[in-house]
Amino acid sequence: MNEACGDWAENLSAYCDGELAVAESSRLESHLQECASCREDMAKIRKLKQWLSDSGAVPGGDAELAERIWSEIRPRLPIKPSPP
Ligand SMILES: [Zn+2]
Repeated sequence: MNEACGDWAENLSAYCDGELAVAESSRLESHLQECASCREDMAKIRKLKQWLSDSGAVPGGDAELAERIWSEIRPRLPIKPSPP
């Protein structure tokens, strides 16, 4: 059932950014309806992105929080964020 989640995880971030093509978005949305774990991942990615944009005004803010959220998401993502 969930063997395709790895592929989707890669798209979740783009989806949250609104960068995913319409066709892909609707396929992802229907997968999300069936897949609780991808829904959770997307909620976390959304939260992280929101936090990142909110904290843009506060340099050196709660970096530990972002790190904690990432450490939850990262193992499930097929891609690794590149180091700064
Ligand atoms: Zn999934």
